[in-house]
Amino acid sequence: MTSRCLCVLNAGSSSLKFALYRVMPDGAPRRALSGEVERIGEKGRLLIAPTDGAAPRETPLAARDHAEALAALAALPDGPLTAPGLEGFGHRVVHGGPTLTTPVLVDTAALAQIEAVSPLAPLHNPPAITVLKALAARFPALPQVACFDTAFHRGHPAVADRFAIPDEFYQAGVRRYGFHGLSYEYIAGALVAHYPAVAAGRVVVAHLGNGASMCALANGHSVDSSMGFTALDGLPMGTRSGSLDPGVILWLQQQKGWNGDRVEHFLYEECGLKGLSGVSNDMRTLLASEAPLAQLAVEYFVYHVARTAGALAASMGGIDAFVFTAGIGERSPEIRARVLQRLEWLGFTLDDAANQQGGPCLTTGSARPAYVIPTDEELVIARHTLALIDAR
Ligand code: ADP
Repeated sequence: MTSRCLCVLNAGSSSLKFALYRVMPDGAPRRALSGEVERIGEKGRLLIAPTDGAAPRETPLAARDHAEALAALAALPDGPLTAPGLEGFGHRVVHGGPTLTTPVLVDTAALAQIEAVSPLAPLHNPPAITVLKALAARFPALPQVACFDTAFHRGHPAVADRFAIPDEFYQAGVRRYGFHGLSYEYIAGALVAHYPAVAAGRVVVAHLGNGASMCALANGHSVDSSMGFTALDGLPMGTRSGSLDPGVILWLQQQKGWNGDRVEHFLYEECGLKGLSGVSNDMRTLLASEAPLAQLAVEYFVYHVARTAGALAASMGGIDAFVFTAGIGERSPEIRARVLQRLEWLGFTLDDAANQQGGPCLTTGSARPAYVIPTDEELVIARHTLALIDAR
C-alpha cells in the first residue's frame, strides 16, 4: 500500500528548502528526503539528500524565481512533488502578524491575511506567498497549511510585546513579535519528552544559527524573545546587525544620506559577524581565523548570548536550565563552552568532556543543567500540516 506523504517547504529570500515526510503506521510523520534550491535568482544549485542511505545529489540549477525553482522540483521523477501518496503541503511563513496565531489551512481568505501582513516582513513573506500560489495552481486539489514563526510568541505579556512608542503604532502592528517560533516549539516538545521536570521550569533557549535569537520558556510557553518587530533585533547574526541604537539609523540617514533601501541592505546583509569581522559571516571561518577583528566578532557574539541569557532569566524571575540549538549551538563546543563559562554566576558548571562529545547534557555537578538539543522545524510543520489535513 502506498504510504501517505506530505511535503514541507521553507522559502527564504533566495532559497527554497524542502522535505518529504511519510506518515508512519503509528501516525507520526518521518522524513524521507530533504533538500534545497540555493541562490535563486543567480546560477544556483539543487541539493537532494535522501534519508535511506542513498548518496546526496547536487546539480546546477539557475532558477530566476521561486516559481521556477518549484517547477524544477516538479520535474524531478523522484522529487518531493512527485511522490506517490502526496496529500498536501506545509509551509514555514516567517510573519503571521498580530492575527495569525496558529497554523492555518490556506484558502483565499487566509492567503489575503498572509499578504496583508507581508509589509511586516518584506524580505521573507513574499517568497512564501509565491510558493503558496504556484502550488495552488499546480496542485489545486491538495491542501496547503501555513505555519508562522511568530505564532509561538503571541502569548507574551504586554511589557514584552510593546515598544515605548504611542499606542497607535502598536495598533498598526508595530509590536515585538519574536521569531524562530517553530524551532522553540520543537524544543519545548523535546523538553517535555526527555526532561519533563525541566520543561515545567524556566528555560532559556538559544537558537544560534545564521539567524540567531533566544527565547524565555516558562512551563513550555514563550514569555519573551530577543527578537522583536523584525528578524534584525537582538543577537548579532551572520550578516544582520542585531540590536542597534536607533540613533545609528538616524546618523546613517542624516550624515551619510542613505535612503531606506540602502539602510535595509546594510542592516540585513553587511553587518553582524560579517560586518564586524570584515572576514566572514560563517562562525567556523571566524573560529579558525587569527585576525583580531574575527576574534572580536566571536567574542561579541558570545558576550551577547550570555548578556541576553541574563536578561531573559530576569524576565522569568530566574532560570532553571539552558538549551543550545541550531547550527552553531548544535555543532560548536567552543561557543557553548565560552557561553557557559560566562553563565557560571547563574549556576551552570561546564562538563568539558560532555561538551566535546556533543552532550546532550553539558554540565556536571551543576546547580543548573544546560543541554544541546538539535532542532527540527520541518517536523513541527509536518505535524501541524497532518493534524489540519486530518481535521478537515
Ligand atoms: P540557518 O539560520 O541558515 O538555518 P544554521 O542553523 O544552519 O543556519 O547555522 C549556520 C551557522 O552554523 C553558520 O554560522 C555556521 O558557520 C555554523 N556552524 C555550522 N557548523 C559549525 C561548527 N562545527 N562549528 C561552528 N559553527 C558551525
